[in-house]
Amino acid sequence: MRVRKHWKNKIFPLLAASICLCLLLIVPCHVLAENGEAKGDVLTVGVPVDRCPVFYEDPASGELVGIGVDLMRTVAENAGYAVTFLRIEKETLKEALDNTAYDVVMPFGSAIKSASGKPSVVTENLIQTPFTLVTKGDGDLPQLNNLRVGMLHSLAAGAETVHQMYPGMEITLYETMPESVQALRDGKVDALLHNSYVWSYVLQKPSYSDLRVQPSAMFSMDFRVGALDTPKGREIVDRLNGGIAELTDTRRAAITLDYTSRKLYHYGFSDYVYQYGLILLLVVLLLIAVLVIAVMKNRAVRAAHEEKLRQLVDHDPLTGVLSQDGFRKRVAELLHTHPDTPYLLTYINIKNFKFINDSLGMAAGDGLLRCLANRIQEAMSKEDAIGRITADRFAVLLRNEGEEKLQKINHEVLDPVRNYFMDRGKENRVLICGGIYVLTPADYQQINVDHMMDYARMAEKRVRSTRNEGYEFYNPEQWEKGKQVAEVINYLPIAIKSGDLHVWYQPQVNYATGKITGAEALCRWDHNKLGFLYPADFIAALEESGLIYDLDCFVWERVCQDLHRWNKQGYHRSVSVNVSRCDIREDRDIPGQFVNLIQKYDLSPDQLHIEITETAFAENPELLISNTVRLRELGFQVEMDDFGSGYSSLHMLKEVPVDRIKLDLHFLTSSGDHKKSLTIVSCMVQMVNLLEMKMIAEGVETVEQADFLLSRGCSEMQGYYFYKPMPVEDFEKVLNSEQN
Ligand code: C2E
Ligand code: MG
Ligand code: MG
Repeated sequence: MRVRKHWKNKIFPLLAASICLCLLLIVPCHVLAENGEAKGDVLTVGVPVDRCPVFYEDPASGELVGIGVDLMRTVAENAGYAVTFLRIEKETLKEALDNTAYDVVMPFGSAIKSASGKPSVVTENLIQTPFTLVTKGDGDLPQLNNLRVGMLHSLAAGAETVHQMYPGMEITLYETMPESVQALRDGKVDALLHNSYVWSYVLQKPSYSDLRVQPSAMFSMDFRVGALDTPKGREIVDRLNGGIAELTDTRRAAITLDYTSRKLYHYGFSDYVYQYGLILLLVVLLLIAVLVIAVMKNRAVRAAHEEKLRQLVDHDPLTGVLSQDGFRKRVAELLHTHPDTPYLLTYINIKNFKFINDSLGMAAGDGLLRCLANRIQEAMSKEDAIGRITADRFAVLLRNEGEEKLQKINHEVLDPVRNYFMDRGKENRVLICGGIYVLTPADYQQINVDHMMDYARMAEKRVRSTRNEGYEFYNPEQWEKGKQVAEVINYLPIAIKSGDLHVWYQPQVNYATGKITGAEALCRWDHNKLGFLYPADFIAALEESGLIYDLDCFVWERVCQDLHRWNKQGYHRSVSVNVSRCDIREDRDIPGQFVNLIQKYDLSPDQLHIEITETAFAENPELLISNTVRLRELGFQVEMDDFGSGYSSLHMLKEVPVDRIKLDLHFLTSSGDHKKSLTIVSCMVQMVNLLEMKMIAEGVETVEQADFLLSRGCSEMQGYYFYKPMPVEDFEKVLNSEQN
């Protein structure tokens, strides 16, 4: 320690001098000891540590240093003392006077009483210290005598001196500098008073940049050493005064300059935050942004990787068409999204492909497969699908567009494949065998792609085993039926009149109460030649030929007749009817049509729930919205049918003001990850509930589905689990048995 080192340098001459003195003047020395003079001429000085650069602790060495320390050390040495400095931490100078651990205490402006009321003595002035007032901003300062001034608690002795100088000054003491600054900022005091040297240090703090030194209000105070007014105290003060007399102005100036020229203020964390807060914030934001981008990129890479894996699983690497798995999924998806589109599934096989590979080489075989896949793909629409099932076998799901289209594909698409090698100068003609399965309405309701492929493969096998090439139908009667449907739709008016068209009802239930709450009207055509037809057999054809509106009007009227009859029997029931997207597109006066019907059959509008399919929105949003708004104004309930099957579901929800959402459960859960499907359904239910819209789930086939929907907050349901569509007589029986 610097203090100790100094002491050691001096102790030997001092000891030598004392020994000599003791030998020569044994008595006076004895007297001195009895008077209790500073033990071994070591003086313990109590100093505060909270006022850099006057008194502070050197952060590197831990020693007490500062202007005051160096002045005192010089004075003490001049007076023949070795000094030890002790920290005064919590106590005031007045309290420190009473503390016997210190021989003397500093700094004092003048002699004051100790905390216990004992008088004190002070030395001569060591140095004239400048004191400065600091204010907030540059405003005018009231007269010093009327000023409210804040000082540090540890300066209580100085405060007393100031008070003697300016009796009208109101002085408040604060424990810490931040507290006093806060009081100044809050207007509790007009100014803060402190040693100018201390200010030069404190005001380097960036967050104190709003504080201003008041140069006009500077005054100086004495800087003295004090002790209790005891013989010992007086003796020390006397000796120190001798030392002070030897203190030169040059030495004073050197010490002051030494400390005031040092860069003592070190930035702490809070200073950096204050000074560079904005930059820090920007850096942090930047880091967060970089992190977010990194995470997103990582996710995107993972998603791309998953997609790639999915592509690998779902696609055939050689030809680029779907793999068997991919084909299965796509077909299920297409059939569900297009339940009204007639489809056929074709199984294609290249005869003697092994021979081609063996004789012309694998590369030639691969080229042929690619050619076949490409040509079919080029002829397909987005609603068709092709998959490579095994080596030379492909399956194709095509919209059933009749004989002509099939012939066209056979020639335009497959002939170049047949001539693949001949076009390349070889003699081999490629023989292609095909089997065709024409989908039935049941296939749309119970989608089993493997069964359909099996049927088509059986037909293909028949060709392969009996002929060289060509194609055959697995179920020619279905093909014929389809052909005839296309032909007979023109006879719709006759069918309507002759009573071949029927309206069936599928009950809707509240699963929570077990009660039937309504029904959906679905049409059926009992054709005298073609047998019993489902909507999948004829709706698409009617839509294409522009006849669907006639069918719809027939169904609506029949439903109104039934409602009227039930009203008369005292049952106020409601039924959901379907509106084709073509009715909307063609801008038929649907609201007017329904108004006519309810007037004619004396119904209230709430008895009709009008189902408009979600896909209608994509076709003509303005017309859909205007029809919906008008229907609701008239008191009809409007329902959004097949919600979740289209591409704009969420957008629709926002744009179209419907009363009830018909959640298409079958579509949402038929393909893909089952767990994910359930999560989506669950979120959709929650979302519709939050939007305070009503909701019904259709296509509920199992008790598990029903329980799940109920647990998520959807209690209205329709599906095979409860009831299949049934003729009106059966429906009435069900209703009656429920009422009994
Ligand atoms: P939609 O309006 O979505 O009607 C529901 C369809 O799902 C009905 O088929 C119904 O039988 C079927 N379904 C009900 N519950 C279940 C179930 O649990 N599982 C499965 N797999 N299916 C279920 P449907 O009667 O064959 O009608 C098919 C579509 O034909 C209807 O779909 C509707 O878009 C259309 N359609 C039916 N009748 C009419 C009509 O009178 N006019 C118009 N424009 N379209 C109609
Ligand atoms: Mg419907
Ligand atoms: Mg539906």
